[in-house]
Amino acid sequence: MILPVAIEWKSDLSIGQEVKILEIPWDYLRQEIKDRGSYLLVLQLERERRIEIGRLGKFWFQKGYYIYVGSAMNSLRARIERHRQKRKKKHWHIDYLTQESDGFLSIPIRSSQRHECEIAEALSSIMKSGPPGFGSSDCHCLTHLFRSEKHPLQIEAFHDVLQRFRMRHP
Ligand SMILES: [Zn+2]
Repeated sequence: MILPVAIEWKSDLSIGQEVKILEIPWDYLRQEIKDRGSYLLVLQLERERRIEIGRLGKFWFQKGYYIYVGSAMNSLRARIERHRQKRKKKHWHIDYLTQESDGFLSIPIRSSQRHECEIAEALSSIMKSGPPGFGSSDCHCLTHLFRSEKHPLQIEAFHDVLQRFRMRHP
């Protein structure tokens, strides 16, 4: 049996008297908690370099963090695992960047709906854009790759975007 409760923390970190029992939205969870949705990949380049991104062309990548937005409405876990492998037949633009990257972090955003373009739009307002057309051959977005000098997890506005797209309250 799972019983979620809300408790109050006081400023001295002691727990208040009031305990509230919360309801679990089981139907919503059953619908949303499947292995599908969107994901962000955070790739780090420790030094700048020129990288050929397949037929999109060669681009100069400054050092820093690159944030890629994708989606997999079937088996999100397997897709992310594929991105993690450096040696593979290159299929997507991102495959040319993952093989060059010095760091890899994946952030799944599970959802029954495909939100990758909305997420890309939200990131475009808080980060610099990567090469035009990167990962966006099948949609109208300028790009699905973004760049940041700081690690995105150290940026509050990035956390706000994650909060907005991760499982919403029904
Ligand atoms: Zn898009």
